[in-house]
This record gives sequence, C-alpha cells and structure tokens, in this order.
Amino acid sequence: MATQPLQILLAQPRGFCAGVERAIDSVERALARFGAPLHVFHEIVHNRQVVDDLRGRGVVFVNDVAQVPRGEVLVFSAHGVADSVLDAAQARGLRVIDATCPLVSKVHQQVRQYSADGRRVILIGQAGHDEVEGTRGVAAAEPLEVVGSAADIAALNWPADTRAAYVTQTTLSIDDTAGLIDTLRQRWPDLQGPNTSDICYASQNRQFAVRALARQVDAVLVVGARHSANAARLREVAEQAGVPAWLIEHVGELNPAWLDGLQRVGITAAASTPPSLVDALCDRLVALGASAPRALPGEVERVRFRLPAGLDTPALPEQPRAPPRLHPGPPAVMSALGAHQSSSNSQAGAPIAAQATSSTLDEGDTSAWNRRSKVAAK
Ligand code: SF4
Repeated sequence: MATQPLQILLAQPRGFCAGVERAIDSVERALARFGAPLHVFHEIVHNRQVVDDLRGRGVVFVNDVAQVPRGEVLVFSAHGVADSVLDAAQARGLRVIDATCPLVSKVHQQVRQYSADGRRVILIGQAGHDEVEGTRGVAAAEPLEVVGSAADIAALNWPADTRAAYVTQTTLSIDDTAGLIDTLRQRWPDLQGPNTSDICYASQNRQFAVRALARQVDAVLVVGARHSANAARLREVAEQAGVPAWLIEHVGELNPAWLDGLQRVGITAAASTPPSLVDALCDRLVALGASAPRALPGEVERVRFRLPAGLDTPALPEQPRAPPRLHPGPPAVMSALGAHQSSSNSQAGAPIAAQATSSTLDEGDTSAWNRRSKVAAK
C-alpha cells in the first residue's frame, strides 16, 4: 500500500441493470408462487453468486427443454432464447415465464421486421454467447450471419447489391461496434439497422462511467463474471483509457500486489454483478488500509421494466400447474418494452445517459457502498 491511504473511487453507474433486476425478481417471484424445484433455461444472468444463491433455494438450471418435466414451469433467462426453444417448451406443455430482457426482445423483433422486409440480417456479436445464440435463432427467411470482427465481415461473400440489415448484441463495446457498422456500410451501402446500434443503455452508461473513472485513478478493478460480456467490455474500456485493469469475480481473487504504489484505485461492476460483491471488495481494501470509498458523480438510472406476463400481478396462492398455458409471445414482451421506452428511448439514437437517467449522484456519496444485496457475497 502507498504511504498515503489508498483512495477508492466507485464508478457511477455500476452493477445491476434493470434487465438483470427484472430477471432475478422474476425467478424469486416464480419460486414464491410455484415453489421448488423451479426450472430456468440457462443461467438467469451471468453471475456465479446469483446462480449459486438461486440454486440453493431450489432453482434447477437446464440447457435443454427436455430436462424439464412435462407441465412444469420454465423461466427463460435475461439473454433470451431461440424460437426453437420456445417451440420445444410449448410442445412439451411447459408453462413459460419469459424473463428475456425487453431490450433483447426488441432486437429479436428487429430481426423479424428486417427479414419480413426481405433483408438478410447480420448479427454483430460474440458467437456462442447465450444472447447471440438466442438472437441467431429468431426465425427469419434466411439464417442470420454472426460477425465479430472486420475479418468476419470480409469473409461474407454476399453481392454488393444484397439488401442487408444488421442488429447487434446488447453488451458490445460502443467504439468497436461503430467501426464494424462502418465496415458493413462500405460493403453494402443500402444497409439498414438501428440508428446507432442495439447496445443497451446499461452497457453504454457503464462504459462511459468506467472511462471517466479511468481518467482519475491509477488502476481499475472490474467485478464481474469472466463469461459476462459486459464485464469483459468494461475491463477493455478501462485499459483503452490507459490504466491497468483487472476483472475479478469476487474479492477472493484480489491480488494485493496489484495495489503496490497506487494512490487511487477505481472500482466498477458488470450489469450482472450484485452490489454485495462490490461491498465485499471495498471492505477488503479498507481492511488493507484504504480510505472509505467515494462514488464519482454520475447518472442515477431510474429504468424499470414491467415483470413478465404471469408475474406482474399481486401474489396469488400457489397455482395448479396443469393445464399448461401457452407462452404469451412477443406482444407481452413488447408491452414491457413500451413501459421502458417511456422513460428511456435509448435505442433511438439520442444521448444515452440523459435518456436512461434523470439525476446525478453527488460526489462523495457512499450510500451505494453501504447498500447490501439480497445475494450474499461468497
Ligand atoms: S445489460 Fe442491457 S440488455 Fe442486458 S439485461 Fe441489462 S439492460 Fe438488458
């Protein structure tokens, strides 16, 4: 540690986004309503602590609809699913609760619209990621092409007059994505797509915030899962801003040697990281001699999404599981999105932070540090 106490600065915003809160809330409400075991398709969000906590309370995470007994409840994760998964769930008579983030559902809807308009759709994203595989699986006239780099785009042998359109994964790097969209437009001048990209308000706000943080510190610690796309982007953005940055899943991965010679360390957290993990890291740093953490001024997000159909009513006595009901489908999802857009028109191209938020946090406010999550840090 430095002679002077190490200063801790917290990025604002950081941690849970509205889509993650909605997804976790959906599972908790479904558990309360239907009881355990409750089946969830894929990790509800990409965070081991969240998943382990829910597993301990009776949630069974599955990667195949066939693992769910007929007639049971199945919750779809925040990342969304391919249409074939929904079809399989319906064929199995499952009662589906769709916790797909409304901003991911919006991307699915864009794919349907572009395809209906006769366009071939390119998905900018990380192949293999749950969200990308879900979006790739949206029924379209022609299969989507996933590209993650300029080399991927160069490998597409589509004619120059192809009526192409693009959508993007919601958690990409703003700068990298803008460059790929430019490359696409050079290949296919008639390219259609969202005004800027589908990168969601939460990813953009956290990237802006960590960039601002990096200007004021000697190093950045990003708390998040290694397989979380938005956590990886935060670490990259901090490094691109010129400071060393480490991604850690929990305080146990902190290497005190990283702090040698530092005067200020910055902390941020991925959109799927519970605040308790940041609290635990701050506690550890203070125990090592750092001064109390201070949050930078920044946007306070007030975005909230309506709960999925079937959970958006007051708690009811436990429901009988049979007969199964069909999944409500896109209209229910889009109504949830409509609620969001009244407070945040983030996908329309105007400045993202102003759309998603309406007030700032005063410098020096450490209330977030003291807020404890429902999910215990492990
Ligand atoms: S990161 Fe964005 S797209 Fe993903 S759950 Fe959060 S708000 Fe939704």
